[in-house]
Amino acid sequence: MQRRLFFLFMMLSLIPAAAILAVNWQISQQHLGFLDSPGLRESLESSLDLARGELKRQRDLTSDEMDHLVDVWPGVNNPLPIPNRPAVLVLIQNNRILQSVGDFDSSMERSILDLVESQHRTPMRIEGQQQDWMAVAVDLAHSQLVLARPLDPQLTHRLDTISQGSARIRQMRLYYGALLRGRTLATLSGLGLAVLILSLLLSRYLARRIAGPISALATATRKVAEGNLDYRVDVEAPDEMGQLVRAFNRMTDDLRTGKEDLIQAERVAAWRGVARRLAHEIKNPLTPITLAMHRISKRVEDPAIIDSVQTVLEETENLKRLADEFSHYARLPAPQPEFVDLGELLRSVVELYAEDDRLEVVWESAVGSPVGYIPESAPVRVDSGQIRQALANLVKNAVAAIDGAGRITLRMGSDGDIVILEIADSGPGLPDPCEQVFEPYFTTKATGTGLGLPISRKIVEDHRGSLTAANQPGNGAVFRLTLPRSKQTKTGEQT
Ligand code: ADP
Repeated sequence: MQRRLFFLFMMLSLIPAAAILAVNWQISQQHLGFLDSPGLRESLESSLDLARGELKRQRDLTSDEMDHLVDVWPGVNNPLPIPNRPAVLVLIQNNRILQSVGDFDSSMERSILDLVESQHRTPMRIEGQQQDWMAVAVDLAHSQLVLARPLDPQLTHRLDTISQGSARIRQMRLYYGALLRGRTLATLSGLGLAVLILSLLLSRYLARRIAGPISALATATRKVAEGNLDYRVDVEAPDEMGQLVRAFNRMTDDLRTGKEDLIQAERVAAWRGVARRLAHEIKNPLTPITLAMHRISKRVEDPAIIDSVQTVLEETENLKRLADEFSHYARLPAPQPEFVDLGELLRSVVELYAEDDRLEVVWESAVGSPVGYIPESAPVRVDSGQIRQALANLVKNAVAAIDGAGRITLRMGSDGDIVILEIADSGPGLPDPCEQVFEPYFTTKATGTGLGLPISRKIVEDHRGSLTAANQPGNGAVFRLTLPRSKQTKTGEQT
């Protein structure tokens, strides 16, 4: 069961995990496909082309304008020519600005000087405070001329956005491509393995936690059914399972105490039987001894002999009184009658003593009562403790006689005012003559006392009933017990 639970829990945790992994994998692949898609690549390329084209146009315009200005300008000692379009023209010598025309502002100075110093002589973008410029420098004899044309801020913003965007997408493609193709596979497998190990551990823990106490209980039930009432379930379990374990242990405790009480009661009864018998055996010869002593004392005159006879008589009398007291002490306690159902009583005894799985217990209607008649109830007014002891004796004997696999047939019935109960077994049957089994000390068992049946009969007879034994026509023994039927049931209704 533990193994089955383990697999169940594992499946329950693995299936969703596997599904999530599969969906994740598919989504990642879709994303990669999207990043690689021709549409995205084309639109990116064309916007980049546009940006590059516009930049080139601005460069060309600046170059052309510079060429034109150099052509029309007569030389260093003349004022600078005015550019056609809005622009700034600056003359520089020894890293100093000599002249300028247009909207030159000092914030441009650093960028322009840097441009001159960089020896870069094709137009390039330089940064200003308000806006960016497209600037180009040319070398003259001992000085440099720089032309800077303002770039439309909206245009520069768009160019920047496009180039940043494309750089980002290129980066992403590189990054995710590597991740999804190579590392993601490793990551996913690692994750899958971790999930597998985790679910294995969790499943094992849960399976143990649930199945452990159950299998312990199953083992304990088997042990108790085999008659081992000392067996205890020794597992820690939470919640209801723990309650069940505790209830089970309590139940076995109760069963054991009940059984011990019964055994104790039986022992006491057996001992009383022995004591009574002993008293009887002692008292029996005392009467003839007394008579003989009286006869002797009448016939002799010798005072010494008369004295001795008198002593014997006194001692005999003492012995008799002693035996009487002994017998009085050994007598079974007077029955304490109460209304009980004989069937119920027998059922509880059978449950206690005929617990071997190999025993088949059958209930039938008793001989002498109408065929098929099983009374709903067999009300009797008896001392239930004593009658239970008698029934236990009969059932135990039947179980012992069967000695393993066999059948116990219980027949209930009534005949007028008498309740009849028969206990038959499929054992070897009674020794011939059957009646001897009721003799005290008759036993064929190595550890038997031979007192069970005599005591049982005594108990039944004390209740104005009878107990007889016979061999069945087929085989096995049958004990027949009768008791007067009570007019009243234990719940008080009249029958
Ligand atoms: P004990 O069982 O201690 O010997 P009992 O008085 O209960 O004392 O029984 C006396 C004997 O009667 C048993 O030893 C057995 O030989 C015989 N006996 C009792 N019941 C049965 C039975 N159901 N089948 C065969 N023999 C039985």
